[in-house]
Amino acid sequence: MSQNYFSYDEAVIRELYRVYSCCIETVLQSLTQPPYRYYVRVNVLRTDPSWLAEQLRKIGFEVYVDEFIEEALWFPVEGPQKLDLDDIECEIVVDKFTAESVYLGANVYAPGVIDIRGSCKEGHRAAVIAPNNIIVAVGRLANDFESKIKMKQGLVVKVEASVFRVPSLRETLYYEKGYVYEQALPSMYVAKVLDPKPGSIIVDMCAAPGGKTSHIYELVRGKAKIYAFDHSRKKIEKLKRELMRLGHKGIIVVRADSRYLDKDFPWLKADYVLLDPPCTALGVRPKLYDRKTGNDIVSAADYQRQFLRTAWNILKPGGILVYSTCTLTMAENEDNIRYAVEELGFELEEAIPFRGSRGYWCKECQWFHPHVHGTPGHFIAKLYKPK
Ligand code: SAH
Repeated sequence: MSQNYFSYDEAVIRELYRVYSCCIETVLQSLTQPPYRYYVRVNVLRTDPSWLAEQLRKIGFEVYVDEFIEEALWFPVEGPQKLDLDDIECEIVVDKFTAESVYLGANVYAPGVIDIRGSCKEGHRAAVIAPNNIIVAVGRLANDFESKIKMKQGLVVKVEASVFRVPSLRETLYYEKGYVYEQALPSMYVAKVLDPKPGSIIVDMCAAPGGKTSHIYELVRGKAKIYAFDHSRKKIEKLKRELMRLGHKGIIVVRADSRYLDKDFPWLKADYVLLDPPCTALGVRPKLYDRKTGNDIVSAADYQRQFLRTAWNILKPGGILVYSTCTLTMAENEDNIRYAVEELGFELEEAIPFRGSRGYWCKECQWFHPHVHGTPGHFIAKLYKPK
């Protein structure tokens, strides 16, 4: 079934087999669906999680405080639902990114539309389909949808039923006020594992759009020197906007190629480093389709090692590095940690608190397996630079 969704060459399958010899098909199948729970992190510097849950219930949300992470709230994800395709005469094809959010209940806006098929008129029921022909939702065509598509602006399909449904917190006042940050559960564990102390110097090497940086800030209650680096100009802008929305002041945001932080900022010496580098993202869900080759994995792993070497150089002796990825390959996860231990001199620490499973070679590492934990796939390692 997942064959329509994944175009992975033999090398990718071999890499996955190193971790999932049990059940690659089950893992891939789970990745086509969203996590069971939709999570947000509460900005504890602005509000109290239980109070916020209470307010959200009053306006109709079904919401729970997480049983282990006090700042996490979750909402049940509805679906999969079988769509009623009777009297559909029109198909709106949208890009992958749009399809993945419409699959979860979002409306279709003009910039995401790539094709119109069939006889489409205002007010008609339309099927919204992904580029690989998977139907993600049905809804009504909006007024003037044709001119909106030409102008690349405005609502095209008001979605009435989608395969899955997650609540849209973004439209609430609480979102605008910076009370919440949308973040998957495993990502929340990353800053928890880092466990930064107030008064320390903390470097987030790949920080944008700021999910983990802002969590770190909340954990130290703003009382640490935090550097947030990222290479992408656009994503840095997004990071700054997010920090502003959350009201997090004093984080030093710098655009840089973090592979060279040791050369470009020779004075930079950190007590804690977070390394959340780009990866092949095999653990991200839901996926309507994905294409990857063995080469993508090899080059991602190589790129990640460049950051690891720099992380060693910018850490003070006695400092802590947390390494995290949202992918499921050994090459980018445990092989890289083995390299950090055997070639660079790091020592392994327990990646506590544990919510996922232990690693294979690295028993101290934490994996979130999508088909086991119901979350996106994620990997977290904690390393110590000896004195
Ligand atoms: N930690 C972030 C997500 C990071 S995704 C969060 O929790 O929100 C990986 C990031 O690495 C991307 O934003 C990308 O722009 C950045 N990146 C890629 N190559 C880089 C480089 N050479 N130097 C610094 N950042 C880089």
